[in-house]
This record gives sequence, structure tokens and C-alpha cells, in this order.
Amino acid sequence: MTNGTDKNYKLNKNTACGVYKTFFERAMSAVFITDGFFNVSEANPAAEKLLGYAPEELCSMKLNEIIHQQDAGLCAPLAGNSFAGESSRCTARLIKKDKTAVTAEICFKKIPGGSFIVSADVSKTNKTDDRPDKNNIIEYTMHATLDALPLWIAYGDISGNYHFANKYYSTTFNLPVENIIGHNFKEIFPPALYKKHKLLYDECIKTCRSVIFEDEAVFENGRIAHAYGLYTPLFTEDKKVYGVSVASFDITAKKKLEFQIQKAFEEIKESEEKYRTLVENSICGIGIKDGDKIIYANKTLMKMFGYDDYKEFSSKKTTDYQTPESQKKVKEWMNKKLNAEEAPDKIEVDIIHKSGKIITVILNSADIKIDGKTYTQSAFVDITERKKLKEALKEWTLRYEYIVEASGQIAYDYDLTSGDVSWGTTPEKLLGYKSKEIDSTIETWAGLLHPQDREKSVKKLNEAEGVMLDDEYRLRHKDGHYVWIRDRGIFLRDESGRALRQIGVLQDISVLKNAEIELISALQQAEAASKAKSAFLANISHEIRTPMNGIIGFTNLLSSSGLNERQKEFNSIIKASCMHLMRLVDDLLDFSDIEAKKLKLENVPFNMQYALISSIEIVSEYYKAKNLELEKFVDERINYLVIGDQLRFKQIVINLLTNAIKYTSKGKIGIKIMQASLKENVSNIIIEVYDTGIGIPREKIGEIFEMFHQLGDSSTSRHGGSGIGLSIVKGLIEIMGGTIKVKSEPEKGSRFIVELPLKIVHNKN
Ligand code: ADP
Repeated sequence: MTNGTDKNYKLNKNTACGVYKTFFERAMSAVFITDGFFNVSEANPAAEKLLGYAPEELCSMKLNEIIHQQDAGLCAPLAGNSFAGESSRCTARLIKKDKTAVTAEICFKKIPGGSFIVSADVSKTNKTDDRPDKNNIIEYTMHATLDALPLWIAYGDISGNYHFANKYYSTTFNLPVENIIGHNFKEIFPPALYKKHKLLYDECIKTCRSVIFEDEAVFENGRIAHAYGLYTPLFTEDKKVYGVSVASFDITAKKKLEFQIQKAFEEIKESEEKYRTLVENSICGIGIKDGDKIIYANKTLMKMFGYDDYKEFSSKKTTDYQTPESQKKVKEWMNKKLNAEEAPDKIEVDIIHKSGKIITVILNSADIKIDGKTYTQSAFVDITERKKLKEALKEWTLRYEYIVEASGQIAYDYDLTSGDVSWGTTPEKLLGYKSKEIDSTIETWAGLLHPQDREKSVKKLNEAEGVMLDDEYRLRHKDGHYVWIRDRGIFLRDESGRALRQIGVLQDISVLKNAEIELISALQQAEAASKAKSAFLANISHEIRTPMNGIIGFTNLLSSSGLNERQKEFNSIIKASCMHLMRLVDDLLDFSDIEAKKLKLENVPFNMQYALISSIEIVSEYYKAKNLELEKFVDERINYLVIGDQLRFKQIVINLLTNAIKYTSKGKIGIKIMQASLKENVSNIIIEVYDTGIGIPREKIGEIFEMFHQLGDSSTSRHGGSGIGLSIVKGLIEIMGGTIKVKSEPEKGSRFIVELPLKIVHNKN
């Protein structure tokens, strides 16, 4: 310690020999003693002076911190490279405490025990200050430039150990430069990438030529990078490869762009494909023309015109396909569109098919621009068949209209959606209007309706949407009078069932309707007359009954007033005639009540057997007087009471028995009462009254139940009837819900069969 320094330089036992110590302390060069891992254990004053660190600071540092990171690779021992001999020299920058650099020739000398003596001589590098020399300026500038470049730039020795890596490189690998320099790229690259690049690296060294590569790498931080670069061999002065440099572009953005362009291109292609398919398979014929030259036609269009081969089809001009009239029509239409005049969207055009036949199409054209040039795009729909059908339909429609017209009706077609009404071609026949004189609307129809019919008929039409309409109303004729109409129409519906149209016929029913009105009025008059007649009958019967009762009363008085035989006989004739007259009056009253539906029946339980016996009793004197035999039969199942009007029941039986006696001169009469069925407390009773009398001719049977009807032969009038009894019997039976039939044969007899449904009550006796 010559300069009396009190700085305490730690001296290793191994090095603490005086000579070396003096040499160590006085050396002009900076000297460091490090262990095998380049941890500084001692540093001399020249080192302190050169770098500006305190000795204790230096002793806690690593040599890596003192030698510039980017130059560390140049120092073989630091880079882990073996070196020949005992020492290794290199030129490298040292970093001072103030962060400036100084270039020095550095010598590494291995000493026993694995330690190193590292000396740094700045004089050898012609450097007297800490500014870099000319070479270093280039190197600095170069390194700074390389750091600034957005390229991956590095170089390494032939084993693949890095000696330099620029900032872009270290940022990509997410590693500080010092963690790259001195390391092998095997440690840094993802395994698959390393495998590929090791081959490229070796190829570059082996062939002494640049090797180009392009690849994609996924880094630990998830970044995906695309690189395009080249490995270039580095040569020593004697043309030996000592290392490899790599410069690689980051083409990630470019790749991304390329990918997007590719995707967009594919999408365009796909959509173009889609539209192409759509156009090609369209049911419309589609074509594009330039002037009258065809430049595109889909298959449908070619097929429509009769062609398979596009070349053949497009070799003709568009006008060649049109009939002369259509050429003119299309030209005029196009001109109108060109001059922005009013023109229809589409027109009907006649086309000459390849076969020579004429087809009709609907043509619709529009301008399209392709690459700035204007073309005409046209769509064609073949309507030949449709047109034919339409014409056939028109013909049929006319035919039907003639049929309808011939039947004196008019046909109509009412469109429910638009409210339009087509009156056919012959409304004049019915309403006096010519087709063009009458508005084709439902409002017109409603306006022509008779005011008394309007509300009802409009309502009926609206409500009839679901069913067939059948209505009668009056429509005003052109000359002002009203015509009675019968309107019958059916509704046509869409798939959902909604009524769209009503098709029907209107028929003039004025004659029928007027006859009907007259008939109704006649009926009403007849009814009124009948009522008056009934009232008259009722009144007159009552008026006759009163004096009759008086006469009968006096015949009774007279009979006990000591009359002689002849007077008695006269008196009893008077009484019998009066009784007969009374019965007739009673019958008339009954008949009048039945006809006026005024007759009321009783509903009480009675015994039919008793009713029968009492009825027979009433007529017994009569049949006995004629020497007739009487047969009587009652079904034994009838052990119940029936509910009904006993008196009217007896009236029926007596009437039928009286007739049987009346019209039978010899033989027998009979009555049978039977049960035809018994169900749910209703018994169907059959009453048969028969005789062996004069009978009724077959053709007259239908007439005997009519009022005041007597068979016009002398035999019946001989028996003295009034012709009212059977009509009363029939009327009563019908009120009771029953029927009466007759079977008869002249000269053999008659059989009257009555069927009555009667409710029953079980007879407890
Ligand atoms: P009338 O009082 O004339 O008997 P009815 O109305 O009882 O009136 O009968 C109508 C007609 O039916 C009779 O005039 C007679 O010609 C015929 N007629 C009714 N019952 C018999 C019968 N049992 N046999 C033959 N003819 C009969």
C-alpha cells in the first residue's frame, strides 16, 4: 500500500504473496480476481479507478455485471466456451458505475483452484478516455440500429450460443437480453420450433450458404408470430464459418391480412357461387345483353327458347328471337324507359322457339352496371300455357254465362277482398242496366236493394260467409220498379278457410213471389172467413139449442097430458126429430171447435172396458132393432186405467158403432180393443169396429172423412146420415195423437181401425 491508502483490499491466502500483491496493487490495468463462477472476490485500485466503484462494491459484483451484456458473448470463458491455452483474450466493453462504457482488451487467465484473474487493459484498445473508438462507434451504431429495427436479429457461434440479440428479439421471447446472450437457442425456442431451426442452422453452417425460412411459432405468452427470415453464415478472415447470423421479418400482420383477404375472397366466392346457383336454377329465364348481343343466359332461359348449347344460343341477336310485332313492342317499351316516360314494369312478348312455334313470355328488364359499363338484365316467364288456360277459361266462362242467361238468371262473381262485383255480361236482362252502366262494386248492389230488405240482406250476406247464401230480396230496376230476386251463391276459400270470393246466380222470382203474396192473402182471407163461419156456427147452434130444449120439454109434458094413441105417435115423432136435430147441432159445434182448434180434451184416468160397455149400451136398442149380432173383444192385458177424455173416447166408439149398425142390414157388427204395444207407460191401443154391411167402394174410401161427405149413391142416403160423424171422429183421434184407417169391400163389410197412444195408470182393483 504505497500511497498510504487505508482501503482494505481483501487478499486471498493464495494470492497474498508480497510480489504479487505489489504487482496487483500497482498494476496499470484493472485486475479482478473471480471464482469459477465469475463472482469478483478481489479488485485492484486501477479497477476501482477505471470503473468508479468502491472496492467493496466491486467485491459483491459478478463479472457479467461489469462486462457489457452484448459483449459478454465475445469473452469465451464467460460464454462458457472452452479456450485453448491458459488464457483467453477478447475486446469487450466494460460498464462503469456511471453507466458509461469503456472498451478494453480483456484477458482471462485460469489459476489453480478454478478461479480467474481477469485483467482489463484500456491502453491496448487505444483508448485514453471512455469514448468508444472508431470501430466501437460503428459497432455501437450498428447495435443501436439493430435494436431499433422491428426485425428479429441475432448472431451466435456454431454451437448455437447467442453472442448478440436485438431488443425486438428479446421482447418477442419475453426475456432480457442478458438471459439470451451466452445461452443456446435450444433453451429459448419452443421444442418444435427448435427442431426445425436447428436443422436450418446446421444446414447454413454446413453449406456455408444463407438459408431462408418461413414459419409460425406460438410463444409461452400465447403470442403467435409469423416469421420470414434467413440464416447467414459468418466467416473468419480465413473463410471459416465461426457463427451464424439470423435476420427475420415479423410477417404476422401481413399473414393476418393475407388470411383476412383470403377469407373475404372465399366469402365472396361462396356468395358468388350461391347467387350463381340461384340464378342458374331460377324458374325464371334470366339473361344479360349488351345492346342486342347476348352475353349471359341461364339454363332456364335457354330451355324456354328451346336451346341446350349456349354458344348456339348466344350467337343470335336478342331481336332474332322476337316476332316482328314483339320487336316493335319491345323497342317502343325500351325507348319509353330510356326517356323516363311512363312505361309498364313488364310486357308480354311473343318469342320464336327453336322449334318454330311461338311462345308468349312476360319480359321484365333493368339496367345493370358491370365494371362501369351498362348492360340490360332481363327476366322471362313463360306464360304460353297460362294464356291458353285463360282463354279456355274465358270460353268456358262465357259458355256458362250463356247457360245461366238462357235459364233467365244472371251470374255474379263477388271478390270479398276488393269488394268488386262482376255482374257477368247480362245484368240488363234482370235490372235493365248494361254492363258498363252499372258499377262493379258491392256498394252498388247494396244501393239497389229495397229499403225494407237492405239491412236484412246485407246482414245475411255478411253472416253467410261460412255457408251457402240463399236469400230473397228486391233490387231496383233501371226504370224504378223493384224486381224480386232469389240470390244463391257459394263461397270460395283459401287454404286457411277464409272466404275470398262468392260466386252465384240471381234469379228473377217476381212472378212466383207475387203469386205467393196473392196466395198468402187468399189464405188469410180464407182463414178469416173460416173463423167467421166457426163463430156463426157456434152462435147459431146455441140459438137453435135453446128453443129445441123448450120443444123437447113440452113433448115430455104433452106425453103425460092424456094424449090418444095417434097424438102420442105424433108427439114421439116430434121428440125424436128434435133429438136428432140436437145431435146434429152438437156435432156441428164439435166440428166447428175441432176446425178452429178450440176443442179442449180432458186428461183423467178411466176404464176403457167400462167405457166400451156403456157405449154398447147406448147403441144396443138400435142394433137389436135391426136384428144384428154384436161381437165384443177386449185384450185381457188391458188391466189398467188410461188417461184421457172418456166422453170423447165414447163419442168415437159410439160414432163408429152407429155407422156400422147404420150401414149393415144383416149379419153382425163387432168391436175389438187390443194393446199393440206398451212402452214407458204409454199403451198403443187399437180399436177395430167392423160390420158385414154395404161396404165402401175402393175409390171412395179417401173421401169419407171429409166434412159433410156422403157417398153419392142411393144406399147411403137411404140410411139417413149427415156426413159429419167421421170427420169429427178423425178430428178427435188426431187431437189425441192417433190415426184412423179403413178397410172395406162393397157388399162384404167395413173395418175401421183406430190407433191411439194413451198414457196408463195401473188399475189397483
Ligand atoms: P153419415 O152421417 O152420413 O153416416 P159419416 O160421416 O158418419 O156420415 O159417414 C160418411 C159416409 O161414410 C157415410 O155417408 C157412408 O157413405 C160412409 N160410411 C160410414 N161408415 C160406413 C160403414 N160402416 N159402412 C159403409 N159405409 C160407411
